[in-house]
This record gives sequence, structure tokens and C-alpha cells, in this order.
Amino acid sequence: MAELDRLDAAYGLGAPPRATRATPRRSLSFTTAITLAATAALVTMVLALHPSSQVESVRRLVGLGSERGLPAPSIEELGGSYRFTMMQRASDEPVGWDPCQPIRYQVNPDGSPEGGEALIDRAVERISTATGLVFESEGTTDKRPFTAQFVPIGTDRPVIIGWATAAEFPTLAGDIAGIGGGAAEEGVRGRRFYVTGGVALDTDVFTAEQVANAPQIMEAIVLHELAHVVGLYHVNEPMELMAATNSGQIDLGPGDREGLARLGSLPCA
Ligand SMILES: [Zn+2]
Repeated sequence: MAELDRLDAAYGLGAPPRATRATPRRSLSFTTAITLAATAALVTMVLALHPSSQVESVRRLVGLGSERGLPAPSIEELGGSYRFTMMQRASDEPVGWDPCQPIRYQVNPDGSPEGGEALIDRAVERISTATGLVFESEGTTDKRPFTAQFVPIGTDRPVIIGWATAAEFPTLAGDIAGIGGGAAEEGVRGRRFYVTGGVALDTDVFTAEQVANAPQIMEAIVLHELAHVVGLYHVNEPMELMAATNSGQIDLGPGDREGLARLGSLPCA
């Protein structure tokens, strides 16, 4: 949490917008969970701990497993603002998911408002279209979205998307509508890739009433959190969906689109 606090101090994450602080209506703000970085010091550690990734890593080393499930999106420089959560070491290349592997995900329906899972379905489809990354549903689960800052090396669990309260995730206190992020591991050739992640959506915000009355905003929040999962960070530009505070933006902005296209166009692991 120290790291999150530092980021909060640096970027003012999660601060309620001044203009809406005095109004009784809840404002919809976003914040990001700190990226969970589990870095393998040695590739062999990952291999030793994880037989299934051994097979996969060997395939990668010999140049197999290098086919995308969807075509890479075209990158258009649209003049918007975007920022990546994590960069490769000593590089201007961002950390993203391996585009030659599907991003597996599960939904925990506990606490879901009516229509909540449909919001997730639509947001997943939109993030997939924007990145050219394949998302593969593995159904529902009773597992919780990640709570730790680090995941063990070789963690093999899908992205978990669910609903939660501030009692479980203190970051959700106040006006924060959701948290999301990815966890990266270091793979062969020293490159980092996200391997899992999580999204926790605030049950105070995602009420049946809100989902019925403001479905586009609610969907946009889920999309924002999924953009964190694939590697986008906040920007100080209200026209972008990755602004820390949503001021009615329901679509991806030009910077969001360019950033997501870049994250989806990285080389395969
Ligand atoms: Zn955010």
C-alpha cells in the first residue's frame, strides 16, 4: 500500500472532484490498483515451479506459439493522451499481455446487480476490439479479485472480475467506483508480460438502480478497469476514459484508443 499511497500523492488518484464534493449525488471516480509485479529472477524458477508454463516457454523459445488469435489493431496517432502502467526495463516499450495467448477471465457473481454480468460481457468485447487481444471466458467463480500486491511466481489463475465493498478493498472507500490492474511476470528474454489481474467493482456504485438508469456510465467504468488490466494508466485529460475521474465520458477517447492499440500490438512472448 505504500506504493499506492506514493502514486496517490503523485497523481492525486481517488481524490473526489472538487466541483462535485458539495453535491449530494455520488460522483463516479475511478482509481487503479497498483500493478502487481511478480518478477522471476530466473526463468528456470518459473519453469521448475510450473510444468505447464515450461511447455509453453519451450514452445516460445523455439519460435512456436507466435500466432495471434485476432489481427493486431492498426495504430492511429490521434493526438490524444495515454499513459502505460509499466514499461519494459530500459525501454520505451510498455508491458502488456502476450497477444498470442488468450486472456482468460472468470466472473464472481457475488454481489452483482441485475444486469451486472451483461455490463462485463459488453466491456470485455469492447476492450478486445480495441486491443485485438482475445478474451476467453472461463465462466463463474467464487474466487475473489486479487488482494495482494504481489502474486507468486508461476501464478496460474485467470483474471477475476467481481463486485466488492470498501470493507474488503479499502481503496473502494469514498467515491471510488472500481479498481483494476494486471500482474506481470518476467518471461524469456527478460521481457515482462501480464499473466493475471483483477477488477473489483464497488457494490455501492453498481446498484440495480444505477445499472438500469445509467447503463452506459456503468459499462464505461468496467471498460476503464479493464483498460487498467491490459496496461493503461490514468491521464489528466477528461475527454479520455482513462481520466482518473469520470465526468460523463462513456466512449474511449483518442488517446485511450491509441494506447490500447499499442498494447495490443506488442510482439508475442
Ligand atoms: Zn482507474
